[in-house]
Amino acid sequence: MFQPFPSCNNCSGAENYCSARRFLALPGNICRILAFGLSLRQRLLFASWGESMEHLYLKEEHLIFRSALRKFLEQEAVSYYDQWEKEGFVPRSFWLKMGSQGYLCPDVEEQYGGAGADWGYAVVINEELERVGSSMIGIGLHNDIVVPYLTAFGTEEQKLRWLPACAKGELITAIAMTEPGAGSDLAGIKTIAVRDGDYYILNGQKTFITNGIQADLVLVACKTDPKAVPAHKGISLIMVERDSPGFSRGRKLDKIGLNAQDTAELIFEDCRVPAGNLLGQEGGGFKYMMQKLQQERLLVSITALVAAEEMLKLTIDYVKTREAFGQPISKFQNTQFEIAEMASEVAVGRAFVDQLIAGHMAHQDMVTQVSMAKWWVSEMAKRVAARCLQLHGGYGYMEEYQIARRYRDIAVTSIYAGSSEIMKTIIAKNLGL
Ligand SMILES: Cc1cc2nc3c(=O)[nH]c(=O)nc-3n(C[C@H](O)[C@H](O)[C@H](O)COP(=O)(O)OP(=O)(O)OC[C@H]3O[C@@H](n4cnc5c(N)ncnc54)[C@H](O)[C@@H]3O)c2cc1C
Repeated sequence: MFQPFPSCNNCSGAENYCSARRFLALPGNICRILAFGLSLRQRLLFASWGESMEHLYLKEEHLIFRSALRKFLEQEAVSYYDQWEKEGFVPRSFWLKMGSQGYLCPDVEEQYGGAGADWGYAVVINEELERVGSSMIGIGLHNDIVVPYLTAFGTEEQKLRWLPACAKGELITAIAMTEPGAGSDLAGIKTIAVRDGDYYILNGQKTFITNGIQADLVLVACKTDPKAVPAHKGISLIMVERDSPGFSRGRKLDKIGLNAQDTAELIFEDCRVPAGNLLGQEGGGFKYMMQKLQQERLLVSITALVAAEEMLKLTIDYVKTREAFGQPISKFQNTQFEIAEMASEVAVGRAFVDQLIAGHMAHQDMVTQVSMAKWWVSEMAKRVAARCLQLHGGYGYMEEYQIARRYRDIAVTSIYAGSSEIMKTIIAKNLGL
């Protein structure tokens, strides 16, 4: 069973979480966290912005897990984040630490190296990573976008081969759909895989691939039947391993934001991949991708929302301390109205996203609603970024202020995982238009 706190001496492993936590306050033990006078719910109300709205789908054990993860991230990520932004990577050593603490792939079943935890733990991980900084999205992509393809469509042999290393952080994954000539229009991809005995020979190029340079295992969308009609029926998914002959990395791309997120071009030149690396059925790739997009888009909605909550929190703190005309700028009615409007929009977003998370955890098909959240929350977060930066005045334009980085980072949330325009086409179609 899932034991979220490897450091807890009292967890027998026989229960979902430490059964002794209410009564013990041992040093270095997660139980200590709960020994404070305040109840968890009370403490939540005093916690940072965003957590003051309670997540109905989270139980007490998720909240304990959040406390432990936050502590871990404060020690292992927060103080290094600026350095990672300069270096352009979240280092592999951090992935390994995440893995060793059980923070990678928690929902993977135990026999494949995971903890068999519900998706609430994934939500907590993504929220806490986003609070550190948006460049951490590469880890969310690994946990909640790529690995779920392996768990859903992989053979027993594939799962046993890859999943334990994914959960330990020894294998970093990527998903390569986008090409220089095809992004929104996935059916238009040109990468081809031709069967040659026990191998596929891949030719083509991918771009904008998250974790692209560091990835050890890449899920590649390609055409195994380029003549299929309709075109999407010719798409298959093939797992390409780091050392496959003919697989190379192109440029590590220079972006305007997400500077610690490794985004790269991938090149396949007569790349030889064992036929056993096909995921699912030949020609089934497009259908599989459509099935998995709900979680991918929900993930982006969650991270954009947390970013908006963080920006608002930063700005509330800032306007209370910055003075102009002899008073804190928080005393100007314009500042108050700006903050009040943003807080309302963020709260609306939170209510909607929480509802969708609960539905997703209950395995409901919510493609239309998740598409609504994806475009609305990401656009709302961009508005919040611009307004919060404005309230910071000139300091908001300075790199040393976090709002500057958040302003740059947020722009991509309305583009990747399907742009706002594509979300609206899905919604309109599902409304019968
Ligand atoms: C930082 C970053 C990380 C990324 N990570 C990955 C990754 O890991 N893996 C991966 O495969 N891809 C990744 N992407 C690619 C991303 O998913 C695509 O950029 C996105 O899907 C848009 O495709 P495009 O860039 O080709 O834009 P285009 O498809 O060329 O679109 C350009 C514009 O036209 C609009 N448009 C297109 N079609 C329509 C339509 N039918 N109706 C109305 N408007 C339309 C779009 O909304 C957009 O505004 C990443 C991108 C970025 C920037």
